[in-house]
Amino acid sequence: MINLFDFIVVGSGAGGATVAKELSAAGRSVLLLEGGKEVPQGRASSAYTVLPADVEVWQTVCLGGTTTVSMGNAVRAKIDGALERFYAEAEKEMAVRPVPESHMGSATRSLLLASKDWKVMPKAIDFSKCKHCGHCPLGCPSAAKWDATAYVREAVSHGCSLYTETPVKRVITQGGRAVGVESFNGRTFNGRGVILAAGAVETPRILMRSGFESVGKGLFVDTFVTVGGVKKGARLNAELGMALYMKRRGYMLSPHYSSFLVPQFAKKGIKIQPSDLLGIMVKIEDEPTGEVRPEKIIKGLSHKDLELVERGRREASEILNGVGVDPETIVSTYPRGAHPGGTCTPLVDRSFETDFESLYISDASIIPKPLGMPPMLSIVARSKKLSKLLLGRA
Ligand SMILES: Cc1cc2nc3c(=O)[nH]c(=O)nc-3n(C[C@H](O)[C@H](O)[C@H](O)COP(=O)(O)OP(=O)(O)OC[C@H]3O[C@@H](n4cnc5c(N)ncnc54)[C@H](O)[C@@H]3O)c2cc1C
Repeated sequence: MINLFDFIVVGSGAGGATVAKELSAAGRSVLLLEGGKEVPQGRASSAYTVLPADVEVWQTVCLGGTTTVSMGNAVRAKIDGALERFYAEAEKEMAVRPVPESHMGSATRSLLLASKDWKVMPKAIDFSKCKHCGHCPLGCPSAAKWDATAYVREAVSHGCSLYTETPVKRVITQGGRAVGVESFNGRTFNGRGVILAAGAVETPRILMRSGFESVGKGLFVDTFVTVGGVKKGARLNAELGMALYMKRRGYMLSPHYSSFLVPQFAKKGIKIQPSDLLGIMVKIEDEPTGEVRPEKIIKGLSHKDLELVERGRREASEILNGVGVDPETIVSTYPRGAHPGGTCTPLVDRSFETDFESLYISDASIIPKPLGMPPMLSIVARSKKLSKLLLGRA
């Protein structure tokens, strides 16, 4: 007998886990297909994949997707004004609240005192469990940080079928309608609706393999560098990172420890202990000039991107000098990106549906423009909206 699901969801990150949870909680039969494995929460860093390009792109392939290594930052995007109720719901479920003073270390406090422009970062963290160890991007060792596996567990408790290590190759269509998917190991799954949420790099590739043309352009990644210098005993490396942020036109600043700074110090002949490093991340709204191709990604820095990075770098250096960092020691990492998005934006209508009936997209690939800010909450809110639309229709 053919098993026919109401919905097949591809990918269990911010977008996919949300849709799977919402639809199964409303009694729909849902199949969630995840390409990666389940990894223990504190060891999510084992699932990192780094995509080489002039601006390297970082993501994780595992149950829960890239949320498992997030810093927990959960901010509303300005472009999503109409999503108020979905944001409110997500913030409640993800226990979003500004970092309390009790969880700010001395390095963060010194920066906070130096400028009134800092805002306290809202985070999806249960601060009663958080040991403010600074390990968020490795996977939370205290299970204090929200990640999408929480939604996956909820979906499964409502009867959602979950297959991990089942990467989807293509969408199966019939008469202009999506009717299922085929996995790389040759299995086919049938559904009345298919929701792609494999992230901004893999969703366009699934579409390419399904016969879609002109997919994968317009890639942005919220390019970032970390600027840092020597301040004896700063100890930012052992604090909760990115506890503050400062929004500027075109970029954002946030206190950040990066081990990638260490080799940059070495190039200057400076030997540094990680505990003596104070850094600030500069994250820009990069131009959507990148592209996802079947075998590689193309992503560089445009002139405007370079200008923004430079402006942010200057401001970060001034702030660091102001709190006692030796200006002669200031260095910067090479540019990277951790928020790939925008690669399928032109393919969907306002209901997140593609030209194929019953084929939807619900991940970072349909964020309409670079936010230069953490996108996770926005993806969850948008996925809640899609779920609502699907439930109204199904
Ligand atoms: C180090 C780091 C820190 C970050 N910190 C923050 C933060 O603090 N706040 C914030 O808002 N954002 C943060 N981000 C970004 C955020 O995690 C992502 O923007 C968000 O998770 C993207 O959601 P998504 O659903 O598009 O993709 P993902 O969450 O990446 O989910 C995609 C899922 O699809 C799966 N998949 C891929 N291909 C296939 C396939 N063919 N078949 C089946 N499954 C497949 C993947 O394994 C994954 O589970 C961070 C990113 C990084 C790398």
